[in-house]
Amino acid sequence: MDAAFFPVHQDLMLSALAPSRHAGATRGDGEASTTADMETSPLQRLRTPVWLYDIDHGRILWANPAALGLWCSDTLEELCQRDMAREMSPTISQRLRQLQQDFRLHDRSSTELWTLYPRGTPRTVDIVCTGWRLPDGRMGMLCEAVGESMTDAVTLRSAEAMVHTPAMVTLYSVRGRALYRNPAARATVDHPEAGARSRVLDRRELRQLIEQLRRNGQARSTVQVSTSLGPRWHDISVRLCRDPVEGRQVFLVSEIDITELKQAEARAHWLAMRDTLTGLPNRSFVSRDFQQRLDGLHASGGEAALIFIDLDRFKAVNDSLGHDIGDRLLVEIAQRLYATLETDDLVARLGGDEFLVLVSDRDGDIERRTRQLVRRLQAELGRTVVIGRLQMQVTPSMGICRFPRDGHDIEALMRNADLALYRAKAQGNGVGWFTPELVRQARDRVQLEQDLRIAVERHQFEVHYQPRLHVGSGRLLGAEALVRWRHPRRGLVQPDVFIGLSEENGLIRAIGAMVLEKAARQQVLWQAQGRTLRISVNLSPRQFSDPALVDTIARIVRDTGCDPQQIELEITESVMLGQDDSTTLAIRQLAAMGFRLAIDDFGTGYSNLAYLQRCPISTLKIDRSFIAGERGVSPLALLVLTMCRMLGIETVAEGVETEAQLDWLRAQDCDEYQGHLCSPALPADQFERRMLELAGPAG
Ligand code: C2E
Ligand code: MG
Ligand code: MG
Repeated sequence: MDAAFFPVHQDLMLSALAPSRHAGATRGDGEASTTADMETSPLQRLRTPVWLYDIDHGRILWANPAALGLWCSDTLEELCQRDMAREMSPTISQRLRQLQQDFRLHDRSSTELWTLYPRGTPRTVDIVCTGWRLPDGRMGMLCEAVGESMTDAVTLRSAEAMVHTPAMVTLYSVRGRALYRNPAARATVDHPEAGARSRVLDRRELRQLIEQLRRNGQARSTVQVSTSLGPRWHDISVRLCRDPVEGRQVFLVSEIDITELKQAEARAHWLAMRDTLTGLPNRSFVSRDFQQRLDGLHASGGEAALIFIDLDRFKAVNDSLGHDIGDRLLVEIAQRLYATLETDDLVARLGGDEFLVLVSDRDGDIERRTRQLVRRLQAELGRTVVIGRLQMQVTPSMGICRFPRDGHDIEALMRNADLALYRAKAQGNGVGWFTPELVRQARDRVQLEQDLRIAVERHQFEVHYQPRLHVGSGRLLGAEALVRWRHPRRGLVQPDVFIGLSEENGLIRAIGAMVLEKAARQQVLWQAQGRTLRISVNLSPRQFSDPALVDTIARIVRDTGCDPQQIELEITESVMLGQDDSTTLAIRQLAAMGFRLAIDDFGTGYSNLAYLQRCPISTLKIDRSFIAGERGVSPLALLVLTMCRMLGIETVAEGVETEAQLDWLRAQDCDEYQGHLCSPALPADQFERRMLELAGPAG
């Protein structure tokens, strides 16, 4: 570092120039002197300019004739009236305050290279400043311009820059003693001689800094330092160089305060780890902090359980009540979740309605603790949520896996907890614990999904038909079209194996359209053969989320030339319940095209009978479980039949297997039935044969 960058500094004693004690004036902490004393003091006769400055008021109180010359003033009165503070930069005022404080505390003088601006002309002088107690007890400053500086322009400007820069520059001896501080550096320490070592707060960081310096002759780091404002973050650069005064090796330390930046960074970091809606930690937090917790447990041999939580039918809330209500529900659930946990449990929202909880082992029985917590969560999250005038009930499903038994890192544990959750949802029992068997099932599912995509591309689906008959007469009225998958290796696969999966991945749209098209063609074909049969086709709720559903069906009508009056579309109650405007519109458009609409599996969902009146429903299919229950036909079936009769809706009993069941239906005036008593679902050609048996030859 070039020595020219530093103002020349030496600590000098002003002993020779100081007025003698018996004259009643002292420096530093001694007795006060008066300017009248000075008028008569030998200072008057000195050729060196000397003046007394009032730091607090920015005024010269007294000056000898030589000083009047330096300040370009004709009279002392005029000079004393000048407001020196007015044009002074904040840095210089700050520096004067520092000097004042140093005088008060340490009774020292200081030599500084200053540029004065008497009547606007710069004059650079070496000034020895000494503390001077004023008559009213305040600390003033006696200034003595010991010489006009002959320094060149570059040096002068660099010295000035050093005074004004906000960068803190300190020169330390190799032992860490402060040899020089620029005003910015001086402002951060209480004591002007504060050493280097006491400043860096973290010993380890200090050691690393020294080590870097030893190796490279320079070092740089962001460290927390102790300052007069408290601990601050400084970006510190240290270099080894020579002291231009004594020639010895010294450290040049330059520092920039980056505390605000650090704080902004910390806040941004905090935000990056938070979910903005609920304020809970988010997925990034999980990757870092959950993993850290697991690492800690691993080191101590502890155990933990990871609980994956998902709210049942949350999507229906969002779809039917709007995202605003959905959001408020999530915030409420997040608060309950948080309040139910113990302080050392970790929680996060992964997104949507998915939450994650990490329960750590406390008393050596992680399973018992987890079971207790799960029970509490079910109770708390299951309590009615009130939002405005709405009352809602939410049931959580939970998938649980254990650390370290079921996985070592958070990613693996999340995958396994997710599998357990998937099973809990599929079984509808709310809570699932991970078992290795689930991994195999998941693999099978992935394989099945791949196969299913190929099946759609290669048209591996067939449609089978189950007869629908008149209960009273046994006459064949129609058939339900039921899909089957002709798998190249597995043979004929039943719909319960793949319909759910195809609903999850959206393939149901293509499959559903294909079934409807095949069924429509079959209906037209049988019609052409003189057999009027009404064919019913299942529509999945997922198909209603397809905006092109109505167009697709209209195209099928055009392409096949079928009569929509002879096609019945079976929809489930969940479609009716989650009804948004587009679903209602689609249902009305389909009815307007002439399709009949049936509610399938009636009684298994959440029956809200209001829709029966609101929507153009022609048929209600009573679910098999009410017909073929263990204790005979359920009384609920009777209730449904009575209700439908009142509403003018036709009834179909599903899954009729015995004559007794049929007799009962006949007695209750049920319109139609289907079931194994007559026939299972059959391929079209076999259905035709069965048809011949039932109704005799066509014609
Ligand atoms: P679903 O629409 O309620 O169809 C009736 C189911 O009950 C059929 O099962 C049928 O074979 C079966 N079944 C009929 N009578 C009896 C009986 O007497 N005893 C017993 N045990 N079962 C009987 P399948 O064909 O396995 O279809 C199961 C479900 O898969 C259907 O229930 C339907 O929800 C769905 N599904 C079938 N094909 C399609 C389709 O093309 N599209 C859609 N979206 N879903 C379909
Ligand atoms: Mg059906
Ligand atoms: Mg059904």
